[in-house]
Amino acid sequence: MPAKIISGKEVAASIREELKERAARLKEKGIVPGLGVILVGEDPASVSYVTAKAKGAEEVGIFEETVHLPADSSEEEIIKTVDRLNQDPRFHGVLVQLPLPKWVNPDKVINFISPEKDVDGFHPINVGKLLRGEPCPLPCTPYGVQQMLVRSGYSPEGKHVVICGRSNIVGKPLAALLIQKKPGANATVTICHTGTRDLKRHTLQADILVAAMGAPKAITADMVREGCVVIDVGVNRVPDPNSPKGFRLVGDCDFEAIKEKAEAITPVPGGVGPMTVTMLLMNTIEAAERTLQG
Ligand code: NAP
Repeated sequence: MPAKIISGKEVAASIREELKERAARLKEKGIVPGLGVILVGEDPASVSYVTAKAKGAEEVGIFEETVHLPADSSEEEIIKTVDRLNQDPRFHGVLVQLPLPKWVNPDKVINFISPEKDVDGFHPINVGKLLRGEPCPLPCTPYGVQQMLVRSGYSPEGKHVVICGRSNIVGKPLAALLIQKKPGANATVTICHTGTRDLKRHTLQADILVAAMGAPKAITADMVREGCVVIDVGVNRVPDPNSPKGFRLVGDCDFEAIKEKAEAITPVPGGVGPMTVTMLLMNTIEAAERTLQG
């Protein structure tokens, strides 16, 4: 039987309905949740991500302001802007859209974001809290993957999750999230990377397989066990003369072949992507709610 298609768009839409209600409840208490975004330069992908974040914020009732800095901004100018947004009580969340110009150290800039306002969950203090299982803003893509699994009836609890990719924004924090002794986690996790010998031997053991490699069709049907749940985080541009843009987006998995074998699979686009933006909105609302707790 063909796999169930897990629509990130649909799961994200239902979470956004919940967020609208939470934002409305905050407003009744005199708090408008706020998100400050710093965008440097005109990189088309970054501009389109920031636009999606601003649109999503408006949709759920978050006040959003983007500070657009010129492409030749210095590290010092960016850090000064971060500091200004940190101090501004209108913003419960602050994020710096990556990548930054090549002369700017992104880790240094992220370290200046106030950990309480770090709605991307990239600050080292929050990375440490995540690993220790302490409350903190969760990195948006891993949080989105977890929510998509749980809300689609495929909780990772007790399952063997194999993650292909060990980046600081996807693979490592997802592993840290799913190994916690908590509801919606409590999984056994294997992380694979380019140093892994015989990748297929590992992927074939997955109850849940997460591909976060940035390599089109790196996961083929023969690497997937019958009945596996496949989450494709990858977003890759491949040339497509039939598309007006000259390219189309594909994931890291051979979607058409794997869907004949897997229990469930996420599409690209329309899978993890919409979840990532939605979890950013969730983190912003949660940061605003925390201000009520004092
Ligand atoms: P990244 O920093 O380039 O990391 C890729 C990881 O995959 C690395 O750990 C690399 O191993 C591993 N890898 C690459 N090719 C491999 C192979 N053939 N076999 C085994 N491991 C392999 O990428 P990222 O930032 O994590 O992003 C991964 C993908 O997800 C990209 O396509 C990105 O665009 C997408 N993404 C999507 C969203 C979303 O919201 N949908 C969010 C974030 C990222 P090494 O460490 O050994 O090099």
